[in-house]
Amino acid sequence: MANRQPLIAGNWKLNGTRKSVVELASAISDGAAGLPVEVLVCPVSVHLADVLAVVGNSPVHLGSQNCSEAESGAFTGEVSANMLQEFGCEYVILGHSERRALFHETSEQVAVKCLAVQKAGMTPVLCVGETLEEREAEQVESVIAAQLDAVLAAGGIEIFRQMVVAYEPVWAIGTGKTASPEEAQAVHALIRQKISSLDADIGSKLRILYGGSVKADNAASLFGQADIDGGLIGGAALDATSFLAICEAAASTVEKSAS
Ligand code: PEP
Repeated sequence: MANRQPLIAGNWKLNGTRKSVVELASAISDGAAGLPVEVLVCPVSVHLADVLAVVGNSPVHLGSQNCSEAESGAFTGEVSANMLQEFGCEYVILGHSERRALFHETSEQVAVKCLAVQKAGMTPVLCVGETLEEREAEQVESVIAAQLDAVLAAGGIEIFRQMVVAYEPVWAIGTGKTASPEEAQAVHALIRQKISSLDADIGSKLRILYGGSVKADNAASLFGQADIDGGLIGGAALDATSFLAICEAAASTVEKSAS
């Protein structure tokens, strides 16, 4: 895996109670201790403080599922990057397909959010991916290139130095349909080539996660691919046993490449 530490990120979406997220976070902190992978959990904003109290003294990192592009002001209902950073967030998921589809976020808006997150000292987890119609129309490469180009236009190649990209085919999210390891690898390789063609060092260090119905039983084959550096996990991240099994699958790829 070319010296890139795998990252397993849990996107908890709009789920949980104060009690249940604390239980989930504490089971994950206990189970992830000592694994050679970076583990990230992303609860809803109102649960950040409770989850930080659990993971703050553990190797588990905290992230948000979105943030405002504005720093402050008359933006009712928004949460800024600085506010998230103050609550212990190190990562922010941006451009998730649910935000693009349900909240009409454009790639240009996502790009501005990436800049805001980096300015606040955090790392964006930039989600890209095609719909089923786009895949069937053989537009995978152009759709993903356009999503990346919007970010490049806003911040140049240097913006990818402090960035994680998550390839999430929209048709695989929450559907139980996973891209095959070969299908996913092909897109990951395209993403890395595109970034590497602009800066070889940034491209070789960029972590590219796969997301879309990753489960304990398909994780190892996905993470075994050369350009897949971990996963962004939705449904399976809500169950500590399943999520930890996915973390262990990523750990086994590190152990294999070390031996
Ligand atoms: C996601 O929402 O980012 C995701 C990958 O969901 P799931 O794992 O449930 O497909």
